[in-house]
Amino acid sequence: MTIASSTGLERILPTYARADLTIVEGDGCRVRDASGREYLDFGGGIAVVSLGHCHPAPLAAAHAQLDRLWHASNLYRTEPAEELAELLSARFGGARAFFCNSGAESVEAALKYARKATGKTGVVAVEGSFHGRTFGALSVTGQPAKREPFAPLVPGVRFVPPNDVAALTAAVDDEIGLILLEPVLGEGGVVPLEDEFVAAASALPPLLCLDEVQVGIGRTGTFFAFEQLGVRPDLVTLAKGLANGLPIGALLVADEAAGAFAPGDHGSTFGGNPVAAAAACAVVEAVDDELLANVHTRGSELVAGLGGLPVTNVRGRGLLVGFETATPAGDVVEAARNEGLLVLTAGENVVRMAPPLTVSEDEVAAALVVLAQVVTLRP
Ligand code: PLP
Repeated sequence: MTIASSTGLERILPTYARADLTIVEGDGCRVRDASGREYLDFGGGIAVVSLGHCHPAPLAAAHAQLDRLWHASNLYRTEPAEELAELLSARFGGARAFFCNSGAESVEAALKYARKATGKTGVVAVEGSFHGRTFGALSVTGQPAKREPFAPLVPGVRFVPPNDVAALTAAVDDEIGLILLEPVLGEGGVVPLEDEFVAAASALPPLLCLDEVQVGIGRTGTFFAFEQLGVRPDLVTLAKGLANGLPIGALLVADEAAGAFAPGDHGSTFGGNPVAAAAACAVVEAVDDELLANVHTRGSELVAGLGGLPVTNVRGRGLLVGFETATPAGDVVEAARNEGLLVLTAGENVVRMAPPLTVSEDEVAAALVVLAQVVTLRP
C-alpha cells in the first residue's frame, strides 16, 4: 500500500487555524523562524512565556532537574512539587495544591473539588468566559458556539452576564456549589470583571473559584489577579505562565476550604512532574516586586500608546491588553505578523496582547510602531 506523501502539518488534526510560520527559536521577547527572520512576540505563546523565551532561571532549573529525575509518579514524594506547593501557598497566604498539566485540567479539578466539598452539582459561570476544552471545562465555558457541537455537556451550569450583580445573585440558589469567574475574561475579549461583581460573588454562599489560568503569575501586575479585587477566593486555577512554557497546571484550595479531597478522589499521572515543577519554582521566585513594577509600567505605556492610534475600547490589566478596530481582529493579527509582530485575537473583534512580563520599554515602543502601521493601513 502506498501512503500519499504529506507534510507534517497535514498529519496533525486541524483543531487550530495555524499561521504559516514555523517558529524554531526564542530568546526573551523575540522568536525566530527557520530562515532567521525575527518576530517580536506580543502573544507570549498565548500568555504563557511569562519571563520570556529561554529565561535563564527556569532554563537552569529544568536542566538541573533533567539531569537528576524526570518522573517518579505520585505514588512517592518528589522535591520540586513540594517546593512549588510551598511557594504557591506562601503567595496565596495558606493554600494546598493539586498539580496537573493544563488549564482545562485545573478547571476539572476545581469542578470535582466543589462537588465533593459542597455535595451540590450546580455552577454559576459568566457569559463569554473560557475555561477549556475538556467536557467539564467546556460545560462552564460561556461561549455557545464552542459548547453546542459537543452537547450534551455536564448539566447544572447557569451563565450570567459579566459584571451583572443582580443576575449573579438571582442565579444562586441551594443547588449551586460553585461560582467560577475569570478576573479578566481573556479568550472572551479581554473584559475585566469589576471589583463589586467579584466581591458580590465572594459574599454569596457557594465556593468561589477564580480561574487565573491566563491572568495569574504576575500577568496583571500582582502575583494573583485577585489581589487587586479585594477578595480571598476559596479556589484558584493556574496554568499557562506557571512554568514559562513547560506544561503544568494547578488547583489551589485555600486552607479554610481544604479537606474535601481524599486519596483516590482525583489524580494525574504526570501532575507535579519534577521538571515542570522545578521550572515553575524558578518562575514563581522570579515574579518579584521589580518584575511586577515592570508589568505596571509597560502595560501603562502600551495602553497610552494605543490611545493615540485609531483603535477603540482599549482595556485590560497589566500586560493583558485588548483593543478593537473597525476591521476583523484576524486581519490585524496577520498584517502585524507580516511586519514582524506577533499578537493574538480574543474573539472576532478584539486584538489581544500578552507579551512576556520582562518586555522592555524599547520593545513596547517597537510594537506600537508596527501597530500604528497596520491599524492605519486598514480602510
Ligand atoms: N482557563 C482560562 C482562563 C484560559 O484562558 C484557558 C486557555 O486559554 C484555559 C482555562 C484552558 O487552558 P488549557 O488550554 O491549558 O487547557
